[in-house]
Amino acid sequence: MSLHNKNVCLQTESWNVSKAREFYNIKEWSEGYFDVNLSGNIIATPDKDVCIDLKEVSKGIELQGISLPVLIRFPQILQARVEEINRAFNTSADKYDCQLTHILCYPVKVNQQKTVIEHILTSHCESVGLEVGSKTELLVALGMLDGREPTLVCNGYKDRAYIRLALYAQIMGYKVFIVIESPSELRVIKQECERLSIQPNLGIRLKLNSVAEGNWQNSGGSNAKFGLDANDILYCLKELKQWNCRKWLKLMHFHMGSQISKLKEFSAGLQEAMHVYSEVCSLGFKLSYIDVGGGLAIDYASKQDTSYFSRSYTIQEYTDVIVSKINQTCESYGLEMPIVLSENGRAVTAHHAMLITNVVKVREHESQGIETYESNYDNNELDQLGVELVKLINDRKNCVKHKDEFEMLLHSKLQKGKVGLLQRAWAEGVLKKCELYLEKNHNSQSLKNSSDNEIYYCNFSVFQSMPDVWGLNQIFPIMPISRLTEAPSVEAKLHDLTCDSDGKITQYAYNDSLHECLTLHEISTSEDYLLGFFLLGAYQEVLGDIHNLFGDTHSINVTQNKKGEIQFTEVEIGDCAEELLKSIHLEGDQVLQRCKERMQAIDATNVTSEEILEEINNALYGYTYLDSVDRPSHRIKR
Ligand code: PLP
Repeated sequence: MSLHNKNVCLQTESWNVSKAREFYNIKEWSEGYFDVNLSGNIIATPDKDVCIDLKEVSKGIELQGISLPVLIRFPQILQARVEEINRAFNTSADKYDCQLTHILCYPVKVNQQKTVIEHILTSHCESVGLEVGSKTELLVALGMLDGREPTLVCNGYKDRAYIRLALYAQIMGYKVFIVIESPSELRVIKQECERLSIQPNLGIRLKLNSVAEGNWQNSGGSNAKFGLDANDILYCLKELKQWNCRKWLKLMHFHMGSQISKLKEFSAGLQEAMHVYSEVCSLGFKLSYIDVGGGLAIDYASKQDTSYFSRSYTIQEYTDVIVSKINQTCESYGLEMPIVLSENGRAVTAHHAMLITNVVKVREHESQGIETYESNYDNNELDQLGVELVKLINDRKNCVKHKDEFEMLLHSKLQKGKVGLLQRAWAEGVLKKCELYLEKNHNSQSLKNSSDNEIYYCNFSVFQSMPDVWGLNQIFPIMPISRLTEAPSVEAKLHDLTCDSDGKITQYAYNDSLHECLTLHEISTSEDYLLGFFLLGAYQEVLGDIHNLFGDTHSINVTQNKKGEIQFTEVEIGDCAEELLKSIHLEGDQVLQRCKERMQAIDATNVTSEEILEEINNALYGYTYLDSVDRPSHRIKR
């Protein structure tokens, strides 16, 4: 992917809300779930009757005493997504004139939060089931699935306890499919079924030869971690036949990987799976379910192409491929149309969650308060070059050349320990002046490296809230949630709070291409500058880690009722420091005890001890992210 680092010269006069919409590619990434209103604020639009102003949301959250960063969930978007996918399947069935039953089995691993699963299961879809990949996820499903014979697909490697739990679920009235990932599971299933005198519904997971390229591609292909190869399949079929248990096998499953950007590759995999499906049927097994896994992608990079973080097809085209290919195979082999399961996770959850946070510091602004030191003009080489550079500051070409030369000389003298602090402060001031001049007057191609852009330090942790940025260089849409009536003018790089050089964002998708910087507004001192980080609903919460012991952010569900009122529900207070200490097996009480002992040892006065202990308690039970400097420390828990 090529990255642009050109200053987008935005004409303030021609800037308006439509331009903002275009500039930040909202139409492409939002799929209709976000827009900008006439006041220049982002709005969430889960359906045509709902319009939630994010600026209002941020004010409402503040009134509730919840500080930033906050993960905002829009449960109405979750439900709209499930319905959209299901509707697309039904439209495809009409188009290809076939009888179709489609069940979306939401893969719990993608976002295991109770509130997320709850809203998916209560969408206005006739039937939604769950897919689980471990014993613990199975327990989640048992705690959440309800209704008449809800579908429950059990994937992943299984031990005896997992198999037993799955069979008990069947006894309790769930429609359970135990998908065989390894032939050894089959014998355990048989033993347990005999013990319980029940007949299971089995599935086999295929190891396809076809591959869907991408960051998650090794979920497919012949070297795939999961699934049965031809030998394994034949072994399982032979065993079932010998046991006279052919009718146990009902389902065939494949999963080619997540975020499949090329529909052609998915289509080839499905075709391959359908050949195996028909062959297994011809061997006397009555399959009646096909589970096409996940993979439906999201256009994070707003490119609508086949690059890894984009999607080059519509949801309708995706369901058309599934329905037409399955229908075609069934017609060719005289088979009944199977019930189609899809395990769409990313496509269901990505849009529903976004993070709002504030910019806490800007590198350039802070330096304005620093005194500019004078050179003592002692006629050394560095001083002479610097004085020359100041004279050339309005001459772009020569300024760039001299600046590079000056920088190199400064660097070599610093290495040799030949520059004192005073001279260094003066030299850095000269460089800053040049940079500011060049940034203001010329496009940044004239600037040599990334340090020439402003850095906006944001109140969040990349590792906690957007781990795939760190792990996979993933792109997410990021933009200001308000002030969109004003033309943005600053080329900024976003850094997080962690003390890690990877705690930053290096690629931004907007204005129809990828950039090294994000064009944002100048920060005003009177109001927090709020940024929205979008499409975080899939995988990010699950994978987020506690680097630097920044923990879970606060999260809140935001909906709009029929009267148009915004409602805040299911407030989950983020982690306090004490919880994070616990996760590394250090009790908060141990911190307090150690501090008490030290205070006794230094014979601190009572007042001092109380004050210190109060502050430590506030820190232990306070939010791990940055608070306003005007607010005294305070507890969010206990
Ligand atoms: N099904 C299985 C078996 C998976 O491993 C995954 C995740 O990779 C999914 C479904 C969800 O895929 P996606 O989020 O692309 O829909």
